[in-house]
Amino acid sequence: MIKLSELYSGKAKTVFKTDNPEKLIMEFRDSLTAFDGKKKSEAPKKGYYNAQIAAKLLQLLEEKGIKTHFDSMLSGTEMVVDAVDIIKIEVIVRNIAAGSLTKKYPFKTGQKLDPPILLFDYKSDEHGDPMINEDIALALGLATKAELAKIRKLALSINSILIDYLDERNLMLPDFKLEFGRRKGKIVLADEISCDTCRFWDKTTGESLDKDVFRFDKGDLVAAYREVARRIVPEIFKKK
Ligand code: UDP
Repeated sequence: MIKLSELYSGKAKTVFKTDNPEKLIMEFRDSLTAFDGKKKSEAPKKGYYNAQIAAKLLQLLEEKGIKTHFDSMLSGTEMVVDAVDIIKIEVIVRNIAAGSLTKKYPFKTGQKLDPPILLFDYKSDEHGDPMINEDIALALGLATKAELAKIRKLALSINSILIDYLDERNLMLPDFKLEFGRRKGKIVLADEISCDTCRFWDKTTGESLDKDVFRFDKGDLVAAYREVARRIVPEIFKKK
């Protein structure tokens, strides 16, 4: 596979075209931003840990029957993915109240949300990723009613799979963000599942092991990401 020109560069990943029009390369970088890009930094090996965590979780979901865009790893930080038509909706799943949910509504941090809460944000930097509902998604033509129903069902299935898997690794999953795409008429899970897009709390101590460490200056970000990688992809730490 030959890496060709850059297609798009986001806050933490760069996407490249390849010599196969059906495949793209998603490179995980060490840069990170928070609060709509207002806070920026670099963290060595963060891209590597996130890429490894994302690869493992996407493969886990594939094994459990969820279609994802994951193809293979080209290097420690470069993931080969199927080219999909991205649906401009960020699907947020919340199991435990944290972050903005506790600011906007009378939820207490740590409060269990059972059943989980699903939220949709319009994926648009220009508009500041505003929260939308199904009617707005339909009116904007972001997805069809059938696609929205499918996305909701998939997000809840993915949530159950991840909760069980992470629980065995002593991690809680308060909330996370998913993105979906269309490929050959089917909805597939796209983007990443990593410490940048999930809240991970240590089950014993409640300590944040995710981007909140950076957002709220809670300590050593790379150490937190490494700890999640140790639990999810222990094989990358074994001496060869
Ligand atoms: N999230 C994300 N990208 C976004 C928005 C949210 O990965 O553009 C993730 C975020 O890391 C968190 C969850 O989705 O795990 C909920 O985030 P949201 O922005 O809704 O609220 P807050 O972080 O303020 O609680």
